[in-house]
Amino acid sequence: MLHSFWAASSNHAAGMASTEAASAQRQARQAQQSSADVEERLEKLQLISMALWELLRDRTKLTENDLIAKVQEIDLRDGTLDGKVTRTVCDCPNCGRRMSPRHKKCIYCGHASLVESAFDGV
Ligand SMILES: [Zn+2]
Repeated sequence: MLHSFWAASSNHAAGMASTEAASAQRQARQAQQSSADVEERLEKLQLISMALWELLRDRTKLTENDLIAKVQEIDLRDGTLDGKVTRTVCDCPNCGRRMSPRHKKCIYCGHASLVESAFDGV
């Protein structure tokens, strides 16, 4: 009796461990696929950025140094030269509450004229 209880309990635990392992494998595959998708999108964006820059450089008098200086200027807008664009919070011009620049309109009052740049809301 005791032996069969332990056998059943052990089988149940093994079954649960197997289910959890399968779930973890599924989640790992999904994360891997998501990472590959992001990497592919990043590579496409890099390609487009390079093409845009080369068109601009070839058709204007802008130089690589101009581009590098502009990248650093934009990078430093948040006060830190870290190779990232850190968007800061802003105040809603209607209600004055703090909000993320990712939002296209104020989540408190619905004011919709907060987009100041094509990159707002990205
Ligand atoms: Zn508001």
